[in-house]
Amino acid sequence: MAKDFYSILGLDRSASSEDVKKAYRKLALKYHPDKNPNDKEAEEKFKEISTAYEVLSDPEKRRRYDQYGHEAYTRSGGRGAGGGAGGFGGVDPFDIFNEVFGGGGGAGGSIFDSFFGGGQTSRGGRGGRRGPAAGRDIVYEMEIDFEDAVFGADKKIELTRPVSCDNCGGSGAKPGTSPSTCGQCGGSGTISMNQGFFSVRQHCPYCQGQGQTISDPCPTCQGVGKVRRRKTIQVHIPVGVDNGSRLRVGGEGEAGERGGPPGDLYVILHVKPHDLFRREGNDIYCDVPVPFHIAALGGTITVPTISGSGKLKIPAGTQSGAVLRLRGKGMPSVRGHGRGDQHVKVQVEVPTKLSHKQKQKVQELSDMIEEANYPRHKDFQKKAEKFK
Ligand SMILES: [Zn+2]
Ligand SMILES: [Zn+2]
Repeated sequence: MAKDFYSILGLDRSASSEDVKKAYRKLALKYHPDKNPNDKEAEEKFKEISTAYEVLSDPEKRRRYDQYGHEAYTRSGGRGAGGGAGGFGGVDPFDIFNEVFGGGGGAGGSIFDSFFGGGQTSRGGRGGRRGPAAGRDIVYEMEIDFEDAVFGADKKIELTRPVSCDNCGGSGAKPGTSPSTCGQCGGSGTISMNQGFFSVRQHCPYCQGQGQTISDPCPTCQGVGKVRRRKTIQVHIPVGVDNGSRLRVGGEGEAGERGGPPGDLYVILHVKPHDLFRREGNDIYCDVPVPFHIAALGGTITVPTISGSGKLKIPAGTQSGAVLRLRGKGMPSVRGHGRGDQHVKVQVEVPTKLSHKQKQKVQELSDMIEEANYPRHKDFQKKAEKFK
């Protein structure tokens, strides 16, 4: 009662691989949906024989199938019978059909196309004359100065890329002439070849699927419809851009195909490092050396910011590494409102090359300062004890 792959193909267990193939060919032609339009039963049958063939034509799968039986095979969704037996799920009956009958493959249309091609989308997007297609995008890497990111800038770039040929308006035909309909495919871009009872549609080799041929090519572009041109393009760098920002310049990519729109130009920005400023998001970091007497006594120093220099108050007792914030002195947001902060990292600088007299003064000072005045030093020394 239960069908198995042998009975589906009308074979017995001793069938040779040649028998399997023969049986499949016979039944596949009989039940192919092309020959049985809108026949659900035939379609099911076609799938069934495809699956049976897929298993029985593969010696390893057939061996496992014989060993574990149909039940085991189907119960586990086809993947059972020792695993990796291949599945119902993965079988494309049309792929198998094309494989056995040698149709399709990579070269253009297939029987599948002639089956589904009539009005529906065929797989792989084939079939029919190729319509207008947008040109390719171009990516251009640009290095800019830190200041350009802060203030914005207008830059010029020189690009050589294919543009639509002016002489022929992109048609590829000599001005005064026009492309003619391809005589081989009648303008459809595909041709039919008979293979058994099936007609196989293929990309028209004569016009490369364009449906048109050019008998009198444009002398400027040799019939391509495009020429390479050098062009200077203005690129506006908005205020606040960051390393890796991508700018889109619409329509400045490569020319489109057959009247399609051009692609876009994408400019990727690389911001050069700055001598003083380092950026993180919209905040700016700046290391500022501070003389040790100012750090000890407190005072005011002048610090650079991207919007001019400003005064920064250093509290008495500021340590090296302390970070002071200048609110709103960071990068302007590329979105146009708000800006980040500037963080000033203090680096206390001690005097070097002291004269004899100066050294004496520092020594006097040091003699007056108790160890309690250096809590960090004291704490550290204590912790370091155990490593002595
Ligand atoms: Zn053609
Ligand atoms: Zn031209």
